[in-house]
Amino acid sequence: MKKFTVNEKKLILREFNELLQLSESFTTDEQRELIRKAFNMAYEAHANMRRKSGEPYILHPIAVAKIAIDEIGLGTKSILAALLHDVVEDTEITIDEIQHQFGEKIASLVDGLTKISGVFANRSDLQAENFRKVLMTMTGDMRVIIIKLADRLHNMRTLDSMSPNKQLKIAGETLFIYAPLAHRLGLYSIKQELEDLCLKYLHPHEYDHILQQIKETEKGRLTYINRFSLPITSRLNEEGYDFEISGRPKSIYSIWNKMEKKNVGFDQVYDLFAIRIIFKPKPNLTEKAQCWNIYSIVTDLYIPKYDRIRDWVSQPKANGYEALHATVMGPGGKWVEVQIRTNRMNEIAERGYAAHWKYKGASDQESELDRWIKQIREMLEDPKSDALEFLDDFKLNLFTSEIMVFTPKGEIITLPSASTALDFAFYIHSEIGFHAVGAKVNHKLVGLNHPLRGGDQIEIITSQKQQPELLWLDFVTTAKAKAKLKSSFREKRRIISNEGKNHLEYLLIELNMQPNSTVFRKLFNHYKTRNKEKLYFKIGEEKIDSETFKQILKKRSRNKYIKFWGIENPESTNAASMFDKSKPLIVDDNSRNYTIAHCCNPIPGDDVIGYKADEDDLIIHKTSCPNAIRLNSSESTKVVKVEWTTHRILAFLGRISLKGIDDIGIVNSCTTVISKELNVNMRAINFESHDGIFEGIIDVYVYNTTDLNNLIMNLSKVKGITQVARMEIGDHDSI
Ligand code: MN
Repeated sequence: MKKFTVNEKKLILREFNELLQLSESFTTDEQRELIRKAFNMAYEAHANMRRKSGEPYILHPIAVAKIAIDEIGLGTKSILAALLHDVVEDTEITIDEIQHQFGEKIASLVDGLTKISGVFANRSDLQAENFRKVLMTMTGDMRVIIIKLADRLHNMRTLDSMSPNKQLKIAGETLFIYAPLAHRLGLYSIKQELEDLCLKYLHPHEYDHILQQIKETEKGRLTYINRFSLPITSRLNEEGYDFEISGRPKSIYSIWNKMEKKNVGFDQVYDLFAIRIIFKPKPNLTEKAQCWNIYSIVTDLYIPKYDRIRDWVSQPKANGYEALHATVMGPGGKWVEVQIRTNRMNEIAERGYAAHWKYKGASDQESELDRWIKQIREMLEDPKSDALEFLDDFKLNLFTSEIMVFTPKGEIITLPSASTALDFAFYIHSEIGFHAVGAKVNHKLVGLNHPLRGGDQIEIITSQKQQPELLWLDFVTTAKAKAKLKSSFREKRRIISNEGKNHLEYLLIELNMQPNSTVFRKLFNHYKTRNKEKLYFKIGEEKIDSETFKQILKKRSRNKYIKFWGIENPESTNAASMFDKSKPLIVDDNSRNYTIAHCCNPIPGDDVIGYKADEDDLIIHKTSCPNAIRLNSSESTKVVKVEWTTHRILAFLGRISLKGIDDIGIVNSCTTVISKELNVNMRAINFESHDGIFEGIIDVYVYNTTDLNNLIMNLSKVKGITQVARMEIGDHDSI
């Protein structure tokens, strides 16, 4: 034993012995010997490694193995693979060695696990490709995916010790890929825990807030559940059922999700909990008949909503879920969802179908597992089954987000679906891209901006006289083409920028003016940039005459969104220094070179991330913005955690929606409230009224979310107002 302290060694042995104990019921002596052997190999291999938290690395594979058997219900092969899952990637041990020691099966599982982590490594442009590889690995053996989920769950549970940016990346990826995967595999409790943990890191404030609210409302909820279940309990007792009733609150993530989607507060997410009746079936009667009998008892007591019956007892879900769901009218006119399950069904619901074998006896465990694994594989392979729903969960349909096209020689090339002929040219070779003049798609001559479709055969026509044009950047979508084009323009830009700078000096001298900040602000507005170098470049490109220049300076600056810029010499900006990924980036009144994303319009105080679009532009998104979630997962290297401190100089656009009862003077009351708020400036207001109900939208400039929340609170006190909430401002919409 190397380097570990006595206490650490004790801890490692204790954890390992616990693992052995957990496996005792379904392993033979021989199998336990193999587990010991795998542990020893992993222990030696990781002997000099520690996790970010400082603890011995070996504790991680042990924890993953424990999750795999205890929380998912996998068997011996999976314990071995879980113990060895990081050795090939992180240590000297090779797949061959594992094959030699443990045989082909274990080697192929470890190989699959090693490949998946490679696939999810920091690559920004290969996401769809990655995903297909993952699916292909899955069809090899589902255990690989399930152990990977256990691995991810343990990493999420121990995410605290990672840097904020790593936390964002891992949580984003988990929300985007692993949680939906867990859902599809029927691993509900894992899915739920993953989502809650993601929320904790992606939106810490909201997470804490909801957790707090759940705690505060617990007593009331318990009282209600008792009131609701008491009559059911006595009837079920009369009928001799062995059962348990529980009312679990919904997951924090699902509450948050609902609040976000419907833009409502915590107390308006009415179905915060579902009642679960879990019973031990009596002998001699089918589980199905008993579920329906309990349903009949419940609906004798409470009126059911007939369109809300979900019968997954007669026809289990594809992932194995079985239960009977009903929604009934509970005391106080509240709809309550009731889930009726046997304890076997409950086990499956909580831990996935792998839990199933417990009820079949330990002897045929692996064959039971194999059957389940085969079933899931078939489900994923069958294009007609609802397995394709699975892809919808990914928010982007990753299969249709890619197309396959052909070279003249018939080679297949995979490109993003929005690719053009020019993307194809750059994919083949950057020299072909630079000198492309046109293309033949399916033997027809087309322009370089021609959008490609799946199955197209493309031939690029080149000319050595051709030079890349700036315009091309508008119609290439692949990262490779963009990067190549940009680097070729960089040199050219420098020359043009220089010309622009000289030209601006000349114009100012001609008008007998000084280059002050007003001049620059107007120029920045006119050219829609906030970067001096870009400005010089645009001036250099246009070579405007002094008449046009005068017009620009005369224009009053009126800007729909507020943009921010730093007036400084670009040479002195060290862009890299802004992106120390180990700590959150602070954005405040002194910051420059950032833009507010128009898709979600965050304001200071929101949970935000920064996306480094290019060297001198940081785009700030709300962490909850779908685009931010996507960026986190697909371009995480460019995403930084941002701490947006309170501003006192710059104001930001926020939007509030109002609902209420139409009343004379209500508009006036609202505007009075707004004008009294010192830190708020109204930009626009729009009220509509029909049938005695009015709805309003107000756009205001605020310094931070506190200002906005104060305003919302004060507006909610106005007589007649029934609902006030912050509203998203979409791209380009105005009131
Ligand atoms: Mn791992």
